[in-house]
Amino acid sequence: MRRWIFIPRSYKPSELQCDRAVCVTPAEAADIILSSRAVLITGGLLLERDYLVDFAVKLSEFMPLIATGASSKPLIERGVEPLTKSFTLHHIVQFVEDGGWRPLRRCDLIVFLGIQPYYLSRVLSSLRHFSNVKTLSLDEFYQPNADYSLSAIAMGIDERLCSGCGDCVAVCRTMSKGLAINVVRGKIIVRPELCVGCGMCADFCSRGAIVFEKGESLHRRMLEELIRALEGTVAIRTHV
Ligand code: SF4
Ligand code: SF4
Repeated sequence: MRRWIFIPRSYKPSELQCDRAVCVTPAEAADIILSSRAVLITGGLLLERDYLVDFAVKLSEFMPLIATGASSKPLIERGVEPLTKSFTLHHIVQFVEDGGWRPLRRCDLIVFLGIQPYYLSRVLSSLRHFSNVKTLSLDEFYQPNADYSLSAIAMGIDERLCSGCGDCVAVCRTMSKGLAINVVRGKIIVRPELCVGCGMCADFCSRGAIVFEKGESLHRRMLEELIRALEGTVAIRTHV
């Protein structure tokens, strides 16, 4: 059975000029959403990627939705009525920072889906410095300016295939800062906070004990897990 470790990388460590967002698993993201007064903001990438529309529709069952960047069209076609579709993301951020727009006054968590990465990075930086709300990015790329961001890369480890040769440890690029990967008595130990996701350990593992997943396939899988976690938690709570 392969075990998956989420790696918080998409930016090189030298590019990080802020405290890094906490890299969260789908289950952790579900807990954060359910313990907050969350609002979902969708963006224009929904027009380019159908699967984001599917997930936005499902997420709208758990929190109100604000559509920006013309993302309202596919959502309304699927029966979702956004709180508003008239404002840009820039306007919404100003409303949050001013605290003057009633629908957002009680909100303490803003969840983002389908926003262009560079634009979202700027928005998150502004919210971090000029508001009290927490932010959670559900987009494909790790967003260091958020409070929480879904991981952008997952490392899959299967110790049954490992021979203990140590090649993965020898090629790891972060050795000067400490071992991001080590093999101790047949157990592969990874420190995600040191790993830069270069993939060298997987490339040099001749046994296929380490693999990487990233991009759209990982993103879909994580959003599916998030929905399952949200539905499961709600079902358990309802039952109680
Ligand atoms: S390179 Fe592969 S087989 Fe060798 S120790 Fe690392 S995980 Fe195990
Ligand atoms: S070699 Fe593997 S563990 Fe080391 S930084 Fe690269 S991906 Fe991470």
